[in-house]
Amino acid sequence: MTLHADYDPDNIFAKMLRGEVPCVKVFEDDVALAFMDIFPQAEGHTLVIPKDVEARNLLEMPKDKLGPYMKRVQKVTKAVEKALKPDGIVVTQFNGAPAGQTVYHLHFHIIPRREGEPLGR
Ligand code: C5P
Repeated sequence: MTLHADYDPDNIFAKMLRGEVPCVKVFEDDVALAFMDIFPQAEGHTLVIPKDVEARNLLEMPKDKLGPYMKRVQKVTKAVEKALKPDGIVVTQFNGAPAGQTVYHLHFHIIPRREGEPLGR
């Protein structure tokens, strides 16, 4: 999958947004949905995806939607911090297969970290 390609409306996250595939939701409003990653890299690994946008990655996110979405990424990161009290939190995002992206609907990973815990990718 190249960096620039058509948005697939049947990607797994789009299906979650339409309620066709279940997920464990931790936050939802009109801008974004946050849910638990099914293959967590650490306890509390959460994903935040934007709604009502066909953006495969950060490069394709319309400027007017980016600010509101990033506010939700920060809000969920703060909630994870409050709930789990980790020692650190990785907030990361991959663009294109060579960068490690596997699902082609924009998402940020929020991954709590503990002192001494080995880092994932
Ligand atoms: O950044 P990347 O595209 O690799 O991340 C996709 C993430 O989506 C993975 O961490 C994977 O575990 C997660 N996933 C999920 N539920 C699915 C499919 C993938 O949480 N049904």
